[in-house]
Amino acid sequence: MRCRIDIVGLGYCTYDILAITPGLPRFDDVRMVHLADLVYDGGGQVGTALTAAARLGARTGYIGILGDDREGRFLRDLFVRDGVNVERLRLSGEVGTNVCLLLVERGTGRRAILCHRRVDADALRLNEADRAVIRSARVLHLDGQFLPAAVRAARWAKAAGVKVCFDGNHPRPGLDALLPSVDWLVVAEPFPAAYTGEADLERAARGLLALGPEVVVVTLGERGCVLWTRDECLTVPAFPVQAVDTTGAGDAFHGGFIYAMLQGWDLRRVALFANAVAALNCRVLGGRRGLPGRAEVDALLHRRT
Ligand code: ADP
Repeated sequence: MRCRIDIVGLGYCTYDILAITPGLPRFDDVRMVHLADLVYDGGGQVGTALTAAARLGARTGYIGILGDDREGRFLRDLFVRDGVNVERLRLSGEVGTNVCLLLVERGTGRRAILCHRRVDADALRLNEADRAVIRSARVLHLDGQFLPAAVRAARWAKAAGVKVCFDGNHPRPGLDALLPSVDWLVVAEPFPAAYTGEADLERAARGLLALGPEVVVVTLGERGCVLWTRDECLTVPAFPVQAVDTTGAGDAFHGGFIYAMLQGWDLRRVALFANAVAALNCRVLGGRRGLPGRAEVDALLHRRT
């Protein structure tokens, strides 16, 4: 019998190669740039958020398609190690696994990112088994990858009373069909203005709220986050940490946010918790390598509150 999954995610899962570098090389320059560190890690918005929630203790599962290649198998094994259910993960010889090269500037943490996209948006075809997993979950988490499948999944979730969380960092064609199904809209700072065309953050966020979600959250990097519901607006500062690499900060935030919402906590506690998960992940190079367990998050919260 399948074990119950509380948080099911459908979206990006990438193979990341990350390096800390004092600078970027120039084409044709014979002088070499020497890296300070180099690691391989899992990445991608939904893949990392699921891993974050799993490390906190949630029962999570991934729906998606990766290449049946070295990178795809690495990502599957990483999910298994972190306790993310992979029954609905397809490894296919017809697609490749997405690979990202992330160059992180030593000292500043600024990033230059190169991506090799090797799977199309319509490569994922959902079936009855996916539907059953979605309908029996408590939350469906999406990021806009495999958009036709994501729209379908969100409608199934909505009809079954499963909460839909969406991670948006930039608008993309077709999103209009998805957003009306979203309950928790948790987006990066540029998204509200880019999607609504309204430059003022407050007005743009209220415009997003009018699309139907019960909560809109905007993450503001080292400044923390702001949350809007119909009745309140909360600003919650980030935790100051020695940030080495902010790759995966937003994804860690989403994992922490969903986990905390499922505990039934009030929104301020949810935001503090999500900020803490994200801050802890910034101390380590890689999107997932620094993701904390529950005890580590609680220790940070107790120190700061
Ligand atoms: P994204 O990674 O999607 O661009 P943000 O940069 O807004 O998202 O970061 C998401 C969350 O990660 C923030 O709301 C904050 O809680 C945390 N965070 C990001 N950068 C830092 C930092 N330098 N120090 C502490 N927390 C951070």
